[in-house]
Amino acid sequence: MPESFSRLGSWVFLAALGVSLTGYPASARQNGVRIVYDPPKNSAHEAIHRTLHEKRILERIRDELDGLRLPRVLTIKTTGCDGEVDAAYEASDTTITICYEYLAYIQELGRDIPPAGVREGLTPANYIAGPFLEVVLHELAHAIFDLKKIPILGREEDAADQVAAYTLLRLGKGEARRVIASVAVMYASEAREAPPELKSFANEHSLPAQRFYNLLCISYGADRQTFGDLVEKGYLPAERAALCEEEYRQVKYAFERLVAPHLKEAKKAGR
Ligand SMILES: [Zn+2]
Repeated sequence: MPESFSRLGSWVFLAALGVSLTGYPASARQNGVRIVYDPPKNSAHEAIHRTLHEKRILERIRDELDGLRLPRVLTIKTTGCDGEVDAAYEASDTTITICYEYLAYIQELGRDIPPAGVREGLTPANYIAGPFLEVVLHELAHAIFDLKKIPILGREEDAADQVAAYTLLRLGKGEARRVIASVAVMYASEAREAPPELKSFANEHSLPAQRFYNLLCISYGADRQTFGDLVEKGYLPAERAALCEEEYRQVKYAFERLVAPHLKEAKKAGR
């Protein structure tokens, strides 16, 4: 069982919501993961920078990966990107970069949480935690694919989405529901705001609307009880829903075979 990833998600999310983490076993051990919070170049990003710093979200991810044997130091960096809205893993310098611009963009997308979102306990203020966690897990998936030479069938961007979604779904029913809802709100807002042009189909990522349906499908496939209303309310078409349990099983099998053993290795060596 990929306990490392599931506990990681849970702690990070609770931390992001400001829940006390007394008793969290702070690790003094240094591993191959380096955290950098660059000071923002744009003063509009100062609040985001401060929040990330205070909540120590990335430090907790580093602690959770403690002991993971990496061939090179992995840097996870939040930084100003001169207006570019981006988050990426760069293999040449083994660095995950999350731009403050990307986080500001996520926050902007959440400004109109729909009524359905309110029922999930989502507000514009707390909604950013889910998408932030999702993007970090997505980029971490790229890094682990690369550094651990994990074979990938299908498009790597879809595989990274699947690893992130699978991890988020292990948060436990209530939390998983809220986090998945917040990420779904982000994709839905993106899909609404930027309808695809022809060249959008050439992008290495699936379209926001596809990522929305993929996320709903894997969630419904994982837990029909918790996510059953997605079909009842028509968010996930019944034709796709019929395939979701099998889609989830396929992701689970690949994750457990290819990714989880490395995380167990981290857990064994780290604590
Ligand atoms: Zn990616």
